[in-house]
Amino acid sequence: MKVAIIGASFAGVTAALEVRKHHPNAEISLLEKQPQLGYIPNGLHLYLDKKIDSLSQAYFIKEADLEQRRIKILLESTVEKVDTANHQLTYRHDNEAITLEYDKLIIATGSSQLSHKIEGSDSDRVLKYKRLKGAEDALETLQASQHVTIIGGGQIGVEAADLLTKNGKQVALVENMDYVLFKYFDKDMIQPIQEEMQEAGVALYMNQTVSSIKEAGDKLEIQLGSGSIESDTAILAVNVRPDLSFLDGQIDLHMDHTIAVDEYLRTSHPDVLAVGDCIQLPSCMGEEAMYIPLVNNAVRTGIVAAANLVKPAQTFNGSLRTIGTSAFGYHIASTGMTESDSLFSDYPIGVKRQIVPANSLPFAEEVLIKYVYNEETRELLGAQLVSKADVLEKINTLALAIQTNQTLEDLSQKEFFFHPTFTNTIETTNLVAWPHIRRDTDES
Ligand code: FAD
Repeated sequence: MKVAIIGASFAGVTAALEVRKHHPNAEISLLEKQPQLGYIPNGLHLYLDKKIDSLSQAYFIKEADLEQRRIKILLESTVEKVDTANHQLTYRHDNEAITLEYDKLIIATGSSQLSHKIEGSDSDRVLKYKRLKGAEDALETLQASQHVTIIGGGQIGVEAADLLTKNGKQVALVENMDYVLFKYFDKDMIQPIQEEMQEAGVALYMNQTVSSIKEAGDKLEIQLGSGSIESDTAILAVNVRPDLSFLDGQIDLHMDHTIAVDEYLRTSHPDVLAVGDCIQLPSCMGEEAMYIPLVNNAVRTGIVAAANLVKPAQTFNGSLRTIGTSAFGYHIASTGMTESDSLFSDYPIGVKRQIVPANSLPFAEEVLIKYVYNEETRELLGAQLVSKADVLEKINTLALAIQTNQTLEDLSQKEFFFHPTFTNTIETTNLVAWPHIRRDTDES
């Protein structure tokens, strides 16, 4: 069996490794348009945060790891055309168009930082750094810039604002909504971070949309709905988008130009599957499908598509949009439905907020937790954590609780270890009311 995989990042690499596991004799070709594979898109942030010494250290896998497993890697090979009827694709390498035949195709071409709405956003001084080359260019430009405007207050924008202010830059951040990180957090949870941002000197432009960016001498003029910002450079941190112009029209797409897949991650063509940032995913948050471009989804869809390559074997169990990061002195994490999302649900929603000490020591940091649950079944639907203590890993337990339909009562009995340095008498995410250590606000 000849298997072609287009795109060698999280989704494509995972799919290749898993296809090898299921099909020891398959001929696997992994095509990638970049000169290298496995770059971590947060590379620039890791560098600015002094976690790595050079961008070249931001890799999650090396070519040799794949070659050892007899996966053929074709770098600097851009797929230009897929001919689904004839089971072949054409890619360009060294200015030559080469045809490759396949029995099964996995599309893992991901997404890019693109905006069709912001005129001028394609300027080189509007930084996009998901790939290594973009990160190298961005680093050079940032080192020569004093004033940086970040367009978009999601995870990338807020992390960048934190790291750039720490690196002595003057930062402005523009966000459409009335608070940052709105996809993952409710406003009441994110308030402390937003206050810290202002304290650190970030100029916040909330409820503002960037309409265009103009180059004016060695400055950028960033036009907002009302007024403008003058800046040395800008960072495009708005939603990412897939580019699927190489498809032949036989693969159904959604309105937002992502590939439509079924629960087995099969496209409308029986021998073509699609994974990662180029698809919409079944969501565990009520809606039928959502665009949730995150690494965990890329990796998990890669695993599931490989299992379903020949026949449907495993359904994809959906995404809870789980994230965790740290910025402006806080560790913040979220999974599942927020209270704002719940406005669209057709069953009653309950909300509980708790402030819990992170451990049993004097002066323990507090953890602010919000639980969103189905009031009829008492099943957990979403959770948000905000703390100066590193409690990020706890969100994964809560995500598993949601995936396995645990109720609030189940959470109160969740097994945990006790150690005074690391835990409280009751584990942070075991939801019980214990007035001496917890302050509860039951908003249901
Ligand atoms: P991608 O990583 O987009 O990779 C697709 C690959 O396909 C690329 O290598 C591309 O070159 C290749 N390709 C595309 N078209 C072709 C073609 N025609 N021919 C050949 N090859 C092609 N998510 C998180 O969960 N946590 C984070 O902390 C996080 N940080 C991020 C920071 C930044 C700055 C950005 C931009 C994104 C971040 N994300 C994060 C999102 C995350 O990067 C994506 O969800 C993830 O990369 C998706 O993986 P993927 O394999 O589906 O696609």
